[in-house]
Amino acid sequence: MNNQFSSKFKNEWHPNIWPPFTQIKNNRPQIEVSHGKDALIYTKNPKRELIDAISSWWVTLHGHSNEYIALSIAQQAKRLEQIIFADFLHPQAKDLSERITSITRLDRVFFSDNGSTAVEVALKIAYQWWQNQGKERYQIIAFDGAYHGDTFGAMALGERNIFNASFDRLMFPVKRAPWPSTWIDDDQVEQKEEIAINKLVDLLQTPTAAVIVEPILQGAGGMNMVRPEFINKVSEVVRKNNSLLIADEVLTGFGRCGSLFAFQKAKIQPDIVALSKGLTGGFLPMGLTLSKEEIFQSFISDNPEKTFWHGHSFTANPLGCAAANASLDLLEKEPSKYLSFEEKHLSLINILQKSSHINKFRVCGTISAFDLQVGEGSGYMNNIGKKIKSNAIEKGLFIRPLGNVIYLMPPLCITDNQLLKSYEIIKEIIEDS
Ligand SMILES: *Cc1c(COP(=O)(O)O)cnc(C)c1O
Repeated sequence: MNNQFSSKFKNEWHPNIWPPFTQIKNNRPQIEVSHGKDALIYTKNPKRELIDAISSWWVTLHGHSNEYIALSIAQQAKRLEQIIFADFLHPQAKDLSERITSITRLDRVFFSDNGSTAVEVALKIAYQWWQNQGKERYQIIAFDGAYHGDTFGAMALGERNIFNASFDRLMFPVKRAPWPSTWIDDDQVEQKEEIAINKLVDLLQTPTAAVIVEPILQGAGGMNMVRPEFINKVSEVVRKNNSLLIADEVLTGFGRCGSLFAFQKAKIQPDIVALSKGLTGGFLPMGLTLSKEEIFQSFISDNPEKTFWHGHSFTANPLGCAAANASLDLLEKEPSKYLSFEEKHLSLINILQKSSHINKFRVCGTISAFDLQVGEGSGYMNNIGKKIKSNAIEKGLFIRPLGNVIYLMPPLCITDNQLLKSYEIIKEIIEDS
């Protein structure tokens, strides 16, 4: 198709802003927003109401400007806004640590600032753990299509592609196992899983420090889902090898996949878990890395080399902790909101299933996704997604396709009507294009 997004947009972008993940030469400028409420974003010029069907990059869990979380942050801000966490403890961090370890059945919480840092910390803990015990295990295994963040360590763990090609020489080696993506009515799933497990078992012949996985759902990689059974098998073979299993639940945590954590749906117990995104309900940036007590214990020593020398200025920021505690309150108050979300998607995807241009329907908890058949050039760089995004905005829906993959990941508060409208708008656009 013609690329209708020419370089004419270049001069419409703000002259002082360097936007994330964007080539301004061929993308429309940012839309100015006046406010957000629940599942809606209100834009200024032109004045529009948009359904935020991707939870503002997967973070907005209960909806925009949620009163309860906002109040909790405001109250905390008047009491204590920030404190150096190496020397001081505060009630919000204490509460959050106790709550999150009790839900995940892990024991120790390390606080950082976002998903990438939560993953960096997870990897550094796992890697150093072996050295603290005087054991030689250096291999790291991840999966094809993985995304773990944009800082160097997290980037090295992710799939190597156009987004990180410039830094290839600076990234450490990572071994990869296949990711057996599946969808509704996929009759090859068992074969694909077997191939993946065999490859993983093969790789594990080399002493391995850690295997990192996004349980059940690879988000940035294209909303690619696997069966919980597969994650369970991964855990089993990693256990057999005595290597550490890191679950990157930065996206999947806090009900996104229909259970509070995706690893619970897969019935596994990881050694280390990374959390962020929905952690604070999407209000404030914060990351958590949880680990087993046994791992923490190996860092206690008179030998300074065994210390975990890592920390960030805003570690366990009280406002972030207050937001996270408030978000947990909301999840605990109404678990049915995430437990039953999948049914909503399943009852609506038939609106799209009749279209001949789309396939590979998949649903997991609050997320539904499908592929647009574009012939040549599928993948992230395909322009069709950009065109669909722009048409959707005209009709009152904000989505952000990953190349030819269209997905919905709305906040839990989206109304049945808004969700129905989202599906109908997508149907209209696909049929018209
Ligand atoms: C978004 C994401 C990250 C990175 O989180 P940031 O807060 O953007 O740094 C890491 N892992 C997964 C699975 C993610 O989806």
